[in-house]
Amino acid sequence: MSNAAIYPGTFDPITLGHINILEKASRVFDHVTLAVAEYTGKPNFFSLQERHELCLEATKDIPNVEVQTFAGLAVDFVQSRQCKIMIRGLRAVSDFEYELSLALTNTKLNPQIETIFMVPSLRYMYLSSSMIRQLAELGTELHDFVPPCVSAALIKKVSQR
Ligand code: ADP
Repeated sequence: MSNAAIYPGTFDPITLGHINILEKASRVFDHVTLAVAEYTGKPNFFSLQERHELCLEATKDIPNVEVQTFAGLAVDFVQSRQCKIMIRGLRAVSDFEYELSLALTNTKLNPQIETIFMVPSLRYMYLSSSMIRQLAELGTELHDFVPPCVSAALIKKVSQR
């Protein structure tokens, strides 16, 4: 597919920072796939199905965006979709080393696929899913940070623990 990009991540859960990157990407590329990874490398807060459903709901108004899940390596998923561009978000300096090593590893795994970094709007620069999970556990109001469906899901999840 030409001029298409894939935005992979764990999205546990999707935040307004991810959506900000997605909106920017949807203006630059003809088609953007938000790809929710089954493998998170850490204990999940939400299951794959829950993360997928929340991403679907949170992005339903963004044109030319679709949501998929994938198992295994992101580069393999990108390749399987005949795509050559992977998008990642770059926030503060703290992201840089991790994202750089990830991009270099992915280039080693598949030199055909390029990583393009996008910078969020300033207000989302320090927003992370891990911070959201902690704030939710402490009962904080989250509507400035996540879409309403995610806020509701977080409240429900915390109350079930
Ligand atoms: P990971 O895939 O490393 O577990 P996430 O699923 O949380 O990370 O995020 C996917 C991508 O989105 C990563 O490149 C991450 O840096 C980026 N990202 C996360 N939060 C934001 C934000 N607030 N602004 C911009 N990019 C972000």
